[in-house]
Amino acid sequence: MTGNEIRQSFLEFFESKGHTRVPASSLVPHDDPTLLFTNSGMVQFKKVFMGEESRPYVRATSAQSSVRAGGKHNDLENVGYTARHHTFFEMLGNFSFGDYFKKEAIAYAWEFLTGTLRFDPQKLWVTVYTDDDEAYALWEQVETLPKGRIVRMGEEDNFWAMGDTGPCGPCSEIYIDQGIDVGCGRAECALGCDCDRFLELWNLVFMQFYRDEHGVMTPLPKPSIDTGMGLERVAAVLQGKTNNYDCDLFTPIIDYVAELAGKQYHTSSADDVSMRVIADHARATTFLVADGVLPSNEGRGYVLRRIMRRAVRYGRALGLTSFFPGVCALVTEEMHGAYPHLNKTRQLLDKVVSNEEQRFGETLDHGLNRLDQEIRRLKKEEDSSAAISGDFIFKLYDTYGFPVDIVRDIAIEREIAFDEPGFVDAMEQQREQSRKSWKGSDVEHLEAGIIELGRQGKKAEFIGYGSMQGVSTVE
Ligand code: ATP
Ligand code: MG
Ligand code: MG
Ligand code: MG
Repeated sequence: MTGNEIRQSFLEFFESKGHTRVPASSLVPHDDPTLLFTNSGMVQFKKVFMGEESRPYVRATSAQSSVRAGGKHNDLENVGYTARHHTFFEMLGNFSFGDYFKKEAIAYAWEFLTGTLRFDPQKLWVTVYTDDDEAYALWEQVETLPKGRIVRMGEEDNFWAMGDTGPCGPCSEIYIDQGIDVGCGRAECALGCDCDRFLELWNLVFMQFYRDEHGVMTPLPKPSIDTGMGLERVAAVLQGKTNNYDCDLFTPIIDYVAELAGKQYHTSSADDVSMRVIADHARATTFLVADGVLPSNEGRGYVLRRIMRRAVRYGRALGLTSFFPGVCALVTEEMHGAYPHLNKTRQLLDKVVSNEEQRFGETLDHGLNRLDQEIRRLKKEEDSSAAISGDFIFKLYDTYGFPVDIVRDIAIEREIAFDEPGFVDAMEQQREQSRKSWKGSDVEHLEAGIIELGRQGKKAEFIGYGSMQGVSTVE
């Protein structure tokens, strides 16, 4: 089954169970400044779960484009290294707003996985929250789940909360054992190991309690269901792959990058990482720009800028300099069928990406050269504790705008330590310095001037920070 077919069949399955198909919401959460990006299917339903908003349905299903590249859920640094994480992915979900609860949620998930998608039950495992005996008992009743496959897990993995206060409850997750050959290979590897062997497919959240400011949990009068399953993970498994990046949703993009670079995918692990990172970041960039995010130096725009720059730098590692707009255009081509809104931003995307690639390309070349020299110098010293110093990283950042995440990536690749805390200190020092130099500057006079004018009963109109002439008085 292709990724598109799986998405379609998921939505149809839940429609057949009385769910209303709801389109994905924007990656920029509507009306929620606390959240950087939409990072799961439930985000657009938050107020419905809280009982603050009502909808004409009590069961919903969606395929939600999600980004986990900042805030509480940040998978940016995993991309390229684990087989299962993306910054941008699609989360398939079914939701019950005070309608059905654990029993049906478990039954639907099992029916879809083992019935519709024909997953082999012999390979599946499930987890429940430590004291969730109800969920444990329900799973025990699932006849085709082999004995001994229900594992109780702690709060970190299996208890979900919307925030410090609000709806919360235990989760139950479905995993597939991909076999000892996948992942860390240790004999003691078991479910819960952070390697890729036991792949988490689906999270079923049972919203059961309301937690107040004192941490007291009271049962919700109408408990709800929120589930999320990663489309790319399911597609990879069904297509016989043990790495998400080898499923058909990524293949055309990776093939395109490989061809541009004149390289073959699956021949060098360093090149594979670069190709995967570029493919992932092109998807994130395409969808973020389509939802109105533009690269900038703060907030969401800053995260997008980091993603784009990281892609450009991995392009350099493959010998590519002008390539990223083409990769993003291909993402649009591949995905506009399922996400028609991508069509509206084709030109904007091309402009934004070309511009960022060019601007950053210049800085990058200088910075990479300097970093390469420094690493060679340190390696020559043959001192095993040699590390790239915080001051050096800061200088790169200050002179070339060279991002610290790229230093981190390169340090890992070249197997050399780097002093990140030292970098943070150097940044702090500079901030302190500029705070001091602020005093006595034109700007301070300017501000004093504005205050003085105010005292004299005149209104000041601010024109700009150029000089004292920035202030003109309005009688
Ligand atoms: P993991 O433990 O693998 O990082 P998670 O527990 O953080 O996953 P959930 O928050 O439970 O993930 O999200 C529900 C589902 O979404 C997961 O079971 C998985 O299938 C998918 N998913 C989560 N994060 C990612 C990601 N970064 N890339 C691709 N799929 C993801
Ligand atoms: Mg995670
Ligand atoms: Mg998990
Ligand atoms: Mg999970």
